[in-house]
Amino acid sequence: MIAYKICLLPGDGIGPEIIAEGVKVLDAVGAKHGLTFAYTEALIGGAAIDACGEALPASILEMAKAADAVLLAAVGGPKWDTTDPDKPRPEQGLLGIRKGLQLYTNLRPVQIFDALSGASTLKPEVIEGVDLMMVRELTGGVYFGRRERFYDEAGAGVDGTPGQRAYDTMEYREYEIDRIARQAFEAARKRRGKVTSVDKANVLESSRLWREVVHRIHEEDYPDVELEDILVDNCAMQLITRPADFDVLVTENMFGDILSDEAAQITGSLGMLASASLGDGTALYEPSHGSAPDIAGQGIANPLAQILSVEMMLRYSFNAQEAADDVRRAVTAVLDAGWRTGDIADGATPKEKVVDTSRMGDLVVDHL
Ligand code: NAD
Repeated sequence: MIAYKICLLPGDGIGPEIIAEGVKVLDAVGAKHGLTFAYTEALIGGAAIDACGEALPASILEMAKAADAVLLAAVGGPKWDTTDPDKPRPEQGLLGIRKGLQLYTNLRPVQIFDALSGASTLKPEVIEGVDLMMVRELTGGVYFGRRERFYDEAGAGVDGTPGQRAYDTMEYREYEIDRIARQAFEAARKRRGKVTSVDKANVLESSRLWREVVHRIHEEDYPDVELEDILVDNCAMQLITRPADFDVLVTENMFGDILSDEAAQITGSLGMLASASLGDGTALYEPSHGSAPDIAGQGIANPLAQILSVEMMLRYSFNAQEAADDVRRAVTAVLDAGWRTGDIADGATPKEKVVDTSRMGDLVVDHL
């Protein structure tokens, strides 16, 4: 038996409901493959703000660092929404743990489950064969750059009248681009051998550095991988016109945030998409969606993105490929049999049966 320590961070909204299903699946797949999991659990995001006034208490980071992997659900909700820069916000928990664990790579696979091909708003012929990996830089760029909001006595208004001003800075260091580029090229080598690097090099200096470094790494160490550059605005269009042409997309933090949500919608169901955040130490796994406050507490959330993030954990943190394949097969079988949560039900599939969160987890376990 191999024992792993897992830090559970349920967070807010539907978080506690879906993470319970992730744990159910972990225990079932572990029992089958000779893996045991010991869990620690902590509050993060809004729940942590309510309990102790901050979104990421220092003890959580220590707990996460001591674990072999972190399974997070989602944070946030209207209760904690504020534009007051002095008030704590749930997202600080998320950004803080990414920074604290040095999770500079975010992987988001986008694949179509055959049973759900009708869920996309795109035409079937456009999404056929879509299998791409978004590689997003996660600890640099504008989300972590210098920022300020201040009252400017002279210069905020068109006529030089006083008013508020704010700025954020997008900054990248060479080594930050170097290491994310390598992750993308490595991922491409295990896939179809093509990297598309997304930037805004016609306007931004940080993008020009991005492009230079990506090309240098390519020439020096990955000449066998095909590399193309694309401007981020063009990429936003191409992603919905020819998504099947992409293999690995690599981009900086904010572009990646936006494009990965767009890519997620190619499948038509945010409730199906998992992500892995990797660095040099403990990795973190979470669904791509948020805390869905509109359906929280009703027991109807789709737990499959959380369960597929368990699949990624098995693959990337524990190198348990067979166990990971088993989870994916079980999810595929459940969908093929017509089981759906409300968000992925189309009302048109003949054998469709709508179930709640907990039952969906049980069905995956049954198939395991
Ligand atoms: P969201 O992803 O929470 O919800 C968008 C829509 O998708 C909602 O209608 C929701 O009901 C639905 N949805 C999402 N996940 C679902 C699931 N598993 N099953 C069924 N339906 C699902 O995005 P939002 O509404 O923009 O944000 C809500 C809150 O979540 C905000 O506070 C936001 O800041 C936060 N958020 C957190 C994360 C994170 O923790 N990683 C990511 C995005 C948003």
